[in-house]
Amino acid sequence: LAKKYEQDYLVKQNLSSTYLLRSMRFAIERNWMMEQLEKARKIEQHLAYHDVLTGLPNRQLFQDRLDQILKQAIRREKMVSILSIDLDGFKRINDTLGHRIGDHILKIMSQRLKSCIRKSDTVARQGGDEFIIILNEIGNEKHAITVAKKILTSLVEPINIDHHICRLTCSIGISLYPSDGQTASNLVKHAEIAMHRAKKQGRNTYQLYNLSMDAEALERLELENNLHTAIERREFKLLYQPKLNLTNGRIEGVEALIRWNHPTLGRISPNKFIPLAEETGLIEQLGEWVLHSACIHAKSLIQEGFPGIRFSVNLSNKQFRNKHLHEMIEQILNKTGLPPEHLGLEITESSVMKDVSYTIKVLRKLKEKGIKIFIDDFGTGYSSLSYLKKLPIDVLKIDRSFLEGVPEDKENKSISSAIIFLAHNLGMQVVAEGVETPRQLSFLRSMRCNYIQGFLFSKPLDFEDLKLLLKEYRNI
Ligand code: C2E
Ligand code: MG
Ligand code: MG
Repeated sequence: LAKKYEQDYLVKQNLSSTYLLRSMRFAIERNWMMEQLEKARKIEQHLAYHDVLTGLPNRQLFQDRLDQILKQAIRREKMVSILSIDLDGFKRINDTLGHRIGDHILKIMSQRLKSCIRKSDTVARQGGDEFIIILNEIGNEKHAITVAKKILTSLVEPINIDHHICRLTCSIGISLYPSDGQTASNLVKHAEIAMHRAKKQGRNTYQLYNLSMDAEALERLELENNLHTAIERREFKLLYQPKLNLTNGRIEGVEALIRWNHPTLGRISPNKFIPLAEETGLIEQLGEWVLHSACIHAKSLIQEGFPGIRFSVNLSNKQFRNKHLHEMIEQILNKTGLPPEHLGLEITESSVMKDVSYTIKVLRKLKEKGIKIFIDDFGTGYSSLSYLKKLPIDVLKIDRSFLEGVPEDKENKSISSAIIFLAHNLGMQVVAEGVETPRQLSFLRSMRCNYIQGFLFSKPLDFEDLKLLLKEYRNI
């Protein structure tokens, strides 16, 4: 009996030691799993607060830190500075060298930015090629300027990747707590406004925020908001400036020039709102409206028995690069019933020269239809003469700046003479823009310039006044 008990005991003990062993193993595995889970949780947390590419804090973490730092600064009555940084021309690098190299550059730039600040400061990636820095508890604005200068010199150092040497500059905007804003969102907004000003100043520089910048940005914002509804509210209008043929003295064409009659700001120049419309993408809708309205007016002139003249419309660079341009023009011509010989398109020299093979393809198609092509603001866009020869262009418009002071201004006189000579030799006609004085006119006549357009002959007119002028001219 004693033996049996002993055996039973041993079996039990054996069993329990296996059990123990098992549960020990289970405990170890569980521990390991907990560690792994903890690691995964940490990674997840890091990813939620950091940018995957550069490893820098992301917007969320930046926001949290800025809130904390500002609270501290209020308590301790210290200054804080925000630096908004945007790389200049980074999009071009990405487009030409590819995203892989673009990403590599962003990583290098992040490291360089980190090396320009103290441990207690924060640099975060705002997205794309935008970064933002918090300088914690600074003594005065000079400290922020010193850091900005350090960044400018550090980022510009050449980068050597895949046998390409890249040099990138950046633009920096600086705002200061408490003088430029009391809240996190205001300080960031003001640093960004100052950064945009630095871009405007020619890039590769820094700007300290000041109040007048805010007024400008507000005006821009107001314009941008109103631009969305201005077409529906019928606030745009087209004026037409005649082009006079110097050989036969007839008005053979007009240029459509847009005007915006803003309900509170009054008449706004296209030089102010066309770039805004381009930036916001509204140019497509606006450009279509211009083309449609000009075609309706041109057609109604023909219907009223006026001799047909050509209506030219300005195309912005974005419109010209739109794949559906040809389709859109065709649709408008069909809808309005205007014969294509009565339409002209003015495209700026800089826009024409951007992607010459695309330009040639599009212009050929338009020209085949009978639409006349004008190259606008000629002389300002660094044309390659060998390309100019290949482009299907009918008319060159000499930029107004080259006619200032002619014939007394010797330099402008030689430039404008050379342009007329060049155009004629390439089989193109010439329009001189912005002719204001009889002396300019007689010089242009002597150079056999084909057309003039300018205040000397007529300012841009509304449609009814244009008809009166045309009637007067038909009577001569
Ligand atoms: P642009 O196409 O070179 O138009 C000529 C500009 O010179 C017009 O300015 C015209 O009013 C002005 N001008 C004409 N004769 C004289 C003159 O004798 N002296 C002076 N000082 N100026 C003269 P505007 O109407 O302010 O237009 C400015 C620019 O805005 C245009 O330059 C054109 O690039 C753009 N623009 C105008 N309308 C449109 C449009 O419908 N669509 C697009 N995309 N751009 C437009
Ligand atoms: Mg024009
Ligand atoms: Mg022009």
